[in-house]
Formats: sequence, C-alpha cells, structure tokens
Amino acid sequence: MSREIELTVNMLAKSKNTVVVTGAGISTEAGIPDFRGENGIYRRLGENRIMGIINIDFFRSNPLEFYNFYREHFMFPAVEPSKAHYMLARLEAEGFVKSIITQNIDNLHQKAGSKKVIPVHGNSERFICTARHCQKSYDSNYVKNSTGIIPYCSDCGGILKPDVILFGEQIYNYMDARDRILGARLLIVIGSSLTVYPLAGFVKEFSTFTQDMIIINKGRTQLDHAAIIKINTGHTGDLLEHIVNCLQMGGK
Ligand code: NAD
Repeated sequence: MSREIELTVNMLAKSKNTVVVTGAGISTEAGIPDFRGENGIYRRLGENRIMGIINIDFFRSNPLEFYNFYREHFMFPAVEPSKAHYMLARLEAEGFVKSIITQNIDNLHQKAGSKKVIPVHGNSERFICTARHCQKSYDSNYVKNSTGIIPYCSDCGGILKPDVILFGEQIYNYMDARDRILGARLLIVIGSSLTVYPLAGFVKEFSTFTQDMIIINKGRTQLDHAAIIKINTGHTGDLLEHIVNCLQMGGK
C-alpha cells in the first residue's frame, strides 16, 4: 500500500466528520465525460460560447436556441453509477462519510444509494415548469420524447426549464453546502479541477485554516498545494474500493 493511501485510510478511520466534495471526474468512469478534461466540451466548443448559452438570461430570451444546444450537449445518456459512486455510498453507510457535496447533475450518487447528498448544481434528470403558479416537475424521458425542441408543461403550457443551475443563477443550498464543508474535520475532494465557484471557494476557505484535505484527481487542481495528500489517478473506483477494503468495514 502506498504511503498516500495508508495515510488516507488512517485519516478516514480517525475523523469524526468527513465530508466529500465531488466533481465531474467521479462520473467519467460511469461514461459521462467531464467538461475540462482532454476531450471535454469546454475545449471543443469554447468556454465563452457555453457560458453565453447555458445562461439564465439566454434561456429566457431565446429558449429555442437554448434547447437546440442543450439537447445536443447537455442531456446525458442513461448510465449506471460507477464503482466510485458505490464505494462512496458504502463509506457513508458504514459511518465513514457524513455527506457528499457534489457539482454533478447526473444524480448518480443518489442512484448508488448515498443518502446525504447536496447536489448544488441541481439534477439534470428533472425539468420544472417555469410558470410560477404551476412548477410541475417532469423527468428527462418526458423531454426526450416531446415532439418539439422546446418542452412544454402538459398541464399549463409553460416552458420547462432543466432543474440545473445555469450561469447567472445562485447555486442550491449555498449556506448548507458551505457550512458542511467548513465544519468538516476531513475534506476529501474527488474528480474536480476546483475551478468552478462558489464550491471551489468553499474548499479554498476550508484550506486556509486546516490542511486536513485529501484530493483525488486525474491531473492538477487549483488547490493541490493546500492538501495534505494528493492522489493523482483516473482509476478512482479501484482506489476507493481499495480504501474501503483497508478500512475493514464495521470497524468504526
Ligand atoms: P471539471 O470538468 O472542471 O474537472 C473534472 C476533473 O476530474 C478534471 O481535473 C479531470 O482531469 C478529472 N478526472 C476525470 N476523470 C477522472 C477520474 N476517473 N478520476 C479522477 N479524476 C478524474 O469538473 P468540475 O470541477 O466538476 O466542474 C464541471 C462543471 O460541469 C460542474 O459545474 C458540473 O456541474 C458540470 N458537469 C457535470 C457533469 C456530471 O454531472 N457528470 C459532467 C460534466 C460537467
């Protein structure tokens, strides 16, 4: 066992309040590409273009163009959680992890069985009617099967909006996510380049008063220097499985 993994196991075993922050990198092994990786959409299409379209003002003023783009690039294929998601759910069930704060919108932590998940950017499998008096919720199949490009509410005819945070919108559960991160005794960041704010800002804030942070990521992140351990891997599922086995479940 490498020194980093041994340390990670020891810290996890001792910590009374471990919080995990996840980003797109935890879902690549499930088959959903990240945005800023080698073939990510940001590199292919350009960040400015994406920020201009996946934007609340653009959605309101030009829903047709918004949905043309959104349907092509943002509607994920139906996939199952990866081993990494299942291992995190197991760590929570066994009492080693208190909660997961995720930037992901793929709902895979919840599907894997994690109970205390805060998806700060929402859930791409859900769509909500924008009519204030209605706000009926639909699943993504309804939208995939709807005939036109723009999906409409079957009750009131209002335009549906993906239940995800668009540029220009406030994240969900801002205070709760921040409190949990700042209140952690041990913070483990998995699969995030730590460039997306405000979540990256909460992690940065945490790291200003403690080094009890472990980063598991393929490639560099913005806060590698602030972590006590950085594990550079793209095989996160295998790594977490190894950690789970080392913890000899039930020992806490
Ligand atoms: P990011 O794209 O900025 O960074 C992902 C990081 O994960 C990269 O550094 C990449 O090298 C690393 N990575 C890729 N595969 C990995 C693996 N198997 N193991 C470990 N690390 C791996 O992601 P982000 O910081 O989460 O921000 C992207 C934004 O886009 C977020 O706002 C998120 O909502 C959204 N997004 C979500 C999904 C999803 O829900 N699955 C997918 C793409 C983007």
